[in-house]
Amino acid sequence: MRIVFVGRSNVGKSSTIKALTGAKIKVGKRPGVTLKPRIIYWQGHEIIDLPGFGFMAGVSHEKQEKIKDFIVEFLERGKFDKAIQVTDAKAFAEIARRWEKRGEIPIEIEMFNFLRELKLKPLLVANKIDKIPKDKRDEKLNEICMLLGFSAPWYKHDFIIPFSAKTKENLELLKERIFHD
Ligand code: GDP
Repeated sequence: MRIVFVGRSNVGKSSTIKALTGAKIKVGKRPGVTLKPRIIYWQGHEIIDLPGFGFMAGVSHEKQEKIKDFIVEFLERGKFDKAIQVTDAKAFAEIARRWEKRGEIPIEIEMFNFLRELKLKPLLVANKIDKIPKDKRDEKLNEICMLLGFSAPWYKHDFIIPFSAKTKENLELLKERIFHD
C-alpha cells in the first residue's frame, strides 16, 4: 500500500510514524523547513510523510502558503491508497474555533475534506490523547467529530482514532484501520 501522512506541524506526525513503523525518525525537530516528502519503506508498504502545514514559529507566511500549495498539488497528482491525517486531539477544536471566528475555514477541516474528495479514505489520528483526562476524552472527540461535519458520538464512525504516539495507546487499532478499511 501507498499511505500518505499529513498534519499540521507539531501535532506529532513524525512520532506517530515512528510508533507505527519503528523507523528511526527524529522527532521534535524544527518543522516545515523542507518541501521534500520523506518516504519510508515498511513491511512492503510505502509511507509518504508530507511536510507539516500551517503556522510554524519562525517560518514566513509565504513559506507556509508554499508548503500548503505543495501538499495540495502532491496529493492531487499522486496515487495513494490511503491518507492518514494526524491532529492534536486537545488543540484541534480550539484552533478550529479560532479560525471560524475569523470567518475562515479551519485548515485541518479543509485538509480532511480535501482528502475525502480525493477518495483517499482518510483516517483522523487524534494524537496526544494522553494529555486529556480519561473522563474528558469523549467530549473532546465528539467536538472534533462535529466540527468535521459528522454526528456524535465519535465512536459511531471508523475514521477517528484516539491515539498516543507517546504511550502507544491504540497502536494496534490504528494498524487495523489502516490495513482493513
Ligand atoms: P510533527 O511536527 O507533527 O512531526 O511532530 P513531532 O512528532 O516532532 O512531535 C512534536 C512534539 O509533540 C514533540 O515534542 C513530541 O515529543 C510531542 N508528541 C508527539 N506525540 C505525542 C503524544 O502522543 N503525546 C504527547 N504528550 N506528546 C507527543
